[in-house]
Amino acid sequence: VAQLIAGNWKMFKTAKETISFCSALRARLEPVEGVDVVVCPPYTSLDEAVGVLAGSGIEVFAQNAHWAAEGAYTGEVSPPMLAELGVTGSLVAHSERRQLLAETDESAAQRIGGVLDAGLRVIACVGETEVEREAGETEAVLRRQVEAVRAAVEAGDRPRLTVAYEPVWAIGTGRTATPEQAEEAHALIRGILDVPILYGGSVKPENAEELLSQPDVDGALVGGASLDVESFASICETAASLSRL
Ligand code: PEP
Repeated sequence: VAQLIAGNWKMFKTAKETISFCSALRARLEPVEGVDVVVCPPYTSLDEAVGVLAGSGIEVFAQNAHWAAEGAYTGEVSPPMLAELGVTGSLVAHSERRQLLAETDESAAQRIGGVLDAGLRVIACVGETEVEREAGETEAVLRRQVEAVRAAVEAGDRPRLTVAYEPVWAIGTGRTATPEQAEEAHALIRGILDVPILYGGSVKPENAEELLSQPDVDGALVGGASLDVESFASICETAASLSRL
């Protein structure tokens, strides 16, 4: 099975920058074989990304979506609006949204339902904070978060669900979970919800191989290193070479 490498751009790249990045990524990776590649630009760049990447096999996901199809929710964007653009999925409950934007397990579950109802795929993010890990609460936190995700998804929609394990202390910090820490968390998650599980947290070309080689790691969600064509492409190639083994 091919690994999935998803680039979370966060609030980086204007629409113009997206066009040049996606053209260069496409030229660098084509033909894309042995790895599933996703980019997650900001809303304002989605249309451009879909246009430039059309026919390349590289998919475009949003970074978030509201749960309702439409309504009086000023400033929000709905799953059917994304689907019409040619976006094929969305991240849900990234830790920055949980920490800075009041995302909860309940709102995450609602968003997952809305995104799946629109026919899109979901990458649902979970992960413990440093304080939780040091207090010995990692397992309890992951159980709570993953069970909320599982409860939000009907069995028939499971094929469109991916989980991303992102320890909060490893995101944007340059600190990566050791391959053993990642594997332990992934195995725990898989015991609760058996879907593909991505690792996220300071994945770089230099550490991708040891993380992606773990038996329960099915790909990576990449933040900082996804903003540069060469480093993102290199991680995608590492994943492709592993899936050929
Ligand atoms: C992320 O934003 O999901 C992430 C893992 O970021 P970084 O790779 O920069 O740690």
